[in-house]
Amino acid sequence: MMKFCGKSVYKGIAIGPAVVVKDKERRITYRETEDSEEEIQKVKGGVESAKKELRILYEKALAEMGESSAAIFEVQQMILEDEDYLDAIFSLIRTEKVNAEHAVYAAGDSFSKMFAGMDDSYIKARAADVMDISYRLAQNILGGDTMDFDLKEPSVIVADDLSPGEVVRLEREKVLAIVTVHGSLNSHTAILARMMGAPTLVGVPLDLDKIHTGMKVIADGIQGEAIFEPDEAVCEELKCRIQKEQENKRLLREMKGKENITLGGKKIHVYANIGSVGDVGDALENDAGGIGLFRSECLYLGRKDFPTENEQFHAYREILRLMGEKKVVVRTFDIGSDKGAEYFHFKKEMNPALGYRGIRVCLKQPDIFKTQLRALLRAAAYGNLSILYPMITSMEEIEKISEIIDEVKKELHEKQTVFKVPEQGIMIETPAAVMISDQLARKAEFFSIGTNDLTQYTLAVDRLNEDLDDFYNPHHEAVLRMIQMVIDNAHRCGKWVGICGELGADLKLTERFVKMGIDGLSVPPSTILPLRKQIRELS
Ligand code: PEP
Ligand code: MG
Repeated sequence: MMKFCGKSVYKGIAIGPAVVVKDKERRITYRETEDSEEEIQKVKGGVESAKKELRILYEKALAEMGESSAAIFEVQQMILEDEDYLDAIFSLIRTEKVNAEHAVYAAGDSFSKMFAGMDDSYIKARAADVMDISYRLAQNILGGDTMDFDLKEPSVIVADDLSPGEVVRLEREKVLAIVTVHGSLNSHTAILARMMGAPTLVGVPLDLDKIHTGMKVIADGIQGEAIFEPDEAVCEELKCRIQKEQENKRLLREMKGKENITLGGKKIHVYANIGSVGDVGDALENDAGGIGLFRSECLYLGRKDFPTENEQFHAYREILRLMGEKKVVVRTFDIGSDKGAEYFHFKKEMNPALGYRGIRVCLKQPDIFKTQLRALLRAAAYGNLSILYPMITSMEEIEKISEIIDEVKKELHEKQTVFKVPEQGIMIETPAAVMISDQLARKAEFFSIGTNDLTQYTLAVDRLNEDLDDFYNPHHEAVLRMIQMVIDNAHRCGKWVGICGELGADLKLTERFVKMGIDGLSVPPSTILPLRKQIRELS
C-alpha cells in the first residue's frame, strides 16, 4: 500500500483502477485510418513546424551555451530530414493504416532501439535523440495542448498535470477521479474538475514510474489522500465512508424543490456554473435556479480550430432549451493565460495572467468576437439569455463592446436573421473594475463578481502557481471589502449583483455575503444543495 497526501480540489471519494498518463507519451494514441494521404500530409506539416522550433532552440542554445550544446538541435534537424526515418513513418501509415502520430512514435521507437543496439558509441547516443525528436514531431502533429484519453472503463486518471483543454475533453462518465502531481487549487483545470464533480487531488508527490495503469487506487478528496494498492482493512473502512457520503447526499436531496430563503425571509438566487452543454444535466439534477456562468471558452478548448457561428448557436440554444425559462448567463470567451488554444497563435508572454486574455482578445480580434456575438444574439431569441463580459477594466472597453454589438445587430438585421439583444452584464474581477464600479454600474445591466481573478489581482498572487496556494487567500479583508463596495455601487444604480467565482460556494462566507446584500451566488452544481441548506439556516 502506498499513501500520498495532496491538495483537495473536490471533496468526494472514489475507488477504481488507475490510468497513468505520462507526460510525453500521453497524447499519442493509436487509431486506424483509411485516409493515409491525409495522415502523411499531417506528418509533413508537423516536420515543418518541428524544424522551426528546432531552429529557435538552436539559436537560443548557441547564444547561451555555445556551439557544442547547440549541435544537438542540428542533429535532430538532420533526423527530421532523414529519408529512411520519414519513409519508415510513411510506410507504417500506408501499410498498417495507422494515424500519423502513432506512426511517428512507432518508427521513432524502432530506430531508437536499433541505434541503442549498435556498437558505435556515437550512434548509440543518437537513440535518445531519435526518441526525443519523434515526441516533438508527434506533439506538432497533434497541435494544441490537448490529448485524448482512451478510457475503457471508469478509471482514476493519474497524471503529471492536465490542461483545461484536456479536462474539457474527458468522457465524464468514465472519470472516477483525478490525481495529479502538479497543479494549483485555483487553476481552470481545478475549477473544471470541480464542476465535473470528480474527486480531484493536485500536488500529490508521486513518482509516475512507480505507478502503473490498472493499479487499484483510492482518491480521497475529503482527507486529501491518494492510496495506491490499499489493503483490505482500508478498503473496508472506505466502503463505510462511501455509504455515509451517500446518506449525506440523500439527506441533501431533501433540499430539492425548496427555496433559497433565510429564516429572516431574504431570498438569494442560486445558480450553477457550467463548462459545457453536458453539464446542464448536473445543474438541473441539483435544482439550479439557472445558469449563472457558462464559461463559453470551453467551447474553444481542446480542438484544432475555432467553433463556427452555427456550432456555437446550437450549443447556446440547446442550453436555453434545456433550462426552459430559467436564466442562462453566457460569459463571452475568456481565452488566454492558462486557457490557450493553439489556433489562436498567442505569443509567449512573460506574465500571461496580466496579458492577452478575455475581453482584450475580443477587442483586438473583433472578427472572432463578432462570430460569438452573432451566435449569442441569435440564440437569445430562444430563451432567457444574458451575456457577461470578462476581464473588464475600463469604461472605454464597455463603449467598444457596445459599438461592436451595434455592428453585429446591423449585420443580422441585413441578413434578416431572427435575433434579440439580451441583458448584458460585466464581470468584476479586476481591482480597476471594483474601483470604478460606480461608473460601470450606470452602463452594465448586472454585475457578476469573479472572486478567483479578483483574489489573484488584488493580492498579486498567481492563481496558477502551486507553490503560492497558501498565499492565495480569497478571505483576505481586501477582497471582502471590494465585494462590499461592488454590491453597494450596483445597488445604488438599482442593478443586480452576484458572485460567480469559487468563493460563492464557500459556506463559511454565506452569512457574510447575505449580510453584504448579495443578490445571487453561482456555484459548481454539486454545491447548490449544501448552499441552499446553509442559506435556509441563516437567521
Ligand atoms: C473568476 O475569475 O472568479 C471567474 C469566475 O472566472 P474564471 O475562474 O473562469 O477566470
Ligand atoms: Mg476570471
